[in-house]
Amino acid sequence: MERDFMAGKQEVVHTQDHETLCCHYSFARRMSRTPKSFIREILKVTENPGIISFAGGLPNPDLIEVGGIAEAAAAVLRDDGRTALQYSTTEGYLPLRRFIADRYKKRLDLDVSPDEILITSGSQQSLDLIGKILIDPGDRVAIERPGYLGAIQVFSLYEPVFLPVELRPEGPDLFAFKTALEGDTVKIFYGIPNSQNPSGITYSEERRKECAEILSGTRTIAVEDDAYGELQFSGSSYPPFKKYLPDQTILTGSFSKILAPGMRLGWVCAPPAVMEQLVVAKQASDLHTNYLSQRIASRYLSETDLDAHIRTIRAAYKEQQNCMIAAMEAEMPEGVTWTNPEGGMFIWVTLPAGCSSMDIFSDALKEQVAVLPGIPFYVDGGGKDTLRLNFSNAHAGQIIVGIRRLSRVIRSRIE
Ligand code: PMP
Repeated sequence: MERDFMAGKQEVVHTQDHETLCCHYSFARRMSRTPKSFIREILKVTENPGIISFAGGLPNPDLIEVGGIAEAAAAVLRDDGRTALQYSTTEGYLPLRRFIADRYKKRLDLDVSPDEILITSGSQQSLDLIGKILIDPGDRVAIERPGYLGAIQVFSLYEPVFLPVELRPEGPDLFAFKTALEGDTVKIFYGIPNSQNPSGITYSEERRKECAEILSGTRTIAVEDDAYGELQFSGSSYPPFKKYLPDQTILTGSFSKILAPGMRLGWVCAPPAVMEQLVVAKQASDLHTNYLSQRIASRYLSETDLDAHIRTIRAAYKEQQNCMIAAMEAEMPEGVTWTNPEGGMFIWVTLPAGCSSMDIFSDALKEQVAVLPGIPFYVDGGGKDTLRLNFSNAHAGQIIVGIRRLSRVIRSRIE
């Protein structure tokens, strides 16, 4: 039986396995409130190589510079192997933190010291550490609607009450944002201003300013997840929240989409008082991020033209996205709408009213196409007529065939 994916809600429909296990073990209450990763469950189904998958969120593997990373790995092990394989500091390798701080200055004119950067095991861990140091059970966490599934999952471990804030094409709905923050009782606003996952929406510059003005003077901390900031197709980004609210923003970043997700390298950039707590939480959690991985990344970055590499990624993703949108324009039945993102890896589809994304998911799977129903991105039970499509991990031929099949499936459900 399907599980209820709404975090923060107690009426969870248990699977048989879950019920059986719960008879034997008394797990912590937080686990019953934490949604399983729907994506992982789906990816299991889609492992079959015959399936065209738009369901996951994998970067294009052809764009991982295996050769350069292999050379950097060999050089680190040859030149400094004993140190690189030792324990290291919780904060992370200083030259890598310096690289990140310098890049913030160059790209976004942000003045950040390496001391304000902590290297994490991917930005997913940044979110976990943020939850750990800030969220007590019952605390209020405002989150975009739809919101990033991984954030919903990790914050759920700390048992907050989620306040969904509707996303509009230009960013959070201002009225909903103001209403959520009224009374100054919200601990965190979590948002992804650049090419949001799952909707692909990029907040306008105006909306960033408006949101920052509302946040200013409150005790709410803006958690700004910038996993896709480097993947804006135009090559430039609007100012981050961190620029408007430097002492009130925690900014997270990741090497997953620009180097390789398997290296598990991300970071969190936070004001000094927050950083102190994050370092304690990080130390308690895993002592430090994989040091060898940090050293390899740092070596690779010192020898490569990262800007050129990122330009290649952007150009490839733009082409993949254009291909998917052209296929949808040609094939999708009347009444289906979708976003046309300025970057990132996802297109967000809204089905005609009454058309269930779970039905489309099952029908499409029979046609060897995997899509992701939008339901797990909603903390309040919405999204039953939405789908997230990933375009970065399929070739043009697969995109065209996959969209043709998906369109046929949708047509057969609405006609
Ligand atoms: N934030 C967002 C918005 C994401 O889409 C992802 C990856 N899907 C992450 C964080 C986590 O990425 P990583 O841990 O690989 O840095």
